[in-house]
Amino acid sequence: MIRIDGLNKAFGDNHVLRGIDLQVNRGEVVVILGPSGSGKSTLLRCVNYLETFDKGEITIDKEPIGRKAVNGKIREMAQNELNRIRREVGMVFQSFNLFPHKSVMQNITMAPVSLLGLSREDADRLALDLLRKVGLEEKAHARPSSLSGGQKQRVAIARALAMKPKVLLFDEPTSALDPMTVGEVLQVMRNLAQEGMTMVVVTHEMGFAREVADKVVIMDQGVIIEEGKPETIFTAPSHPRTRQFLRQVL
Ligand code: ADP
Ligand code: MG
Repeated sequence: MIRIDGLNKAFGDNHVLRGIDLQVNRGEVVVILGPSGSGKSTLLRCVNYLETFDKGEITIDKEPIGRKAVNGKIREMAQNELNRIRREVGMVFQSFNLFPHKSVMQNITMAPVSLLGLSREDADRLALDLLRKVGLEEKAHARPSSLSGGQKQRVAIARALAMKPKVLLFDEPTSALDPMTVGEVLQVMRNLAQEGMTMVVVTHEMGFAREVADKVVIMDQGVIIEEGKPETIFTAPSHPRTRQFLRQVL
């Protein structure tokens, strides 16, 4: 579903991604772990082309995103083509990014109405279904400001799902939450995983990684130093930097 080949990205002379190769199969949950500054967020942002990259290729369900080879030359993709592929990649951020002056329902229905051309009725029905799925049907007409962090994040997940993405990317979705509400967000993510959603999750929640991930990827200084099944990574990590990282977080 996602294929990343030879991805390189620099901010000025800060070479942040140094040759990332990664595959995410349909229905798989891949958890990315690694110290702060190792390039995890930048990698996710490249996958839906919120960041441009310098070298390499990313494909979503076999379609390149952002840049593609035309007659052997790499060129930037046209905006409309980019937007079409981007819709297939949902993203959930640490900071929710909900529109504060819109209701929960409006937050969820805006993009499907304007980008997918859903009727108001269909979009409302879809939003209610998704709110039910994340356990927030009764908050349909609330403003985001009246919700707890965990509730806001569940709305953000519902909003991402409303675009019917092929893949969902999560960048530290529970890092900004009150510990009391972390569990409800992880439960929604666990349910999505069980339903077969393809997910890439940057998180420090080791329990979630251990239990839900099909594959754990360890990043350090812009490279993937190790990847494997969670039981292997957590019990017998092979790279010394993985051992060091896990000692600090476990
Ligand atoms: P992580 O998510 O693993 O903490 P990031 O991808 O956020 O790491 O950052 C990796 C490196 O890229 C850091 O050195 C960070 O300072 C740098 N960086 C990230 N975003 C930008 C940006 N927009 N402009 C300049 N440097 C950036
Ligand atoms: Mg980050």
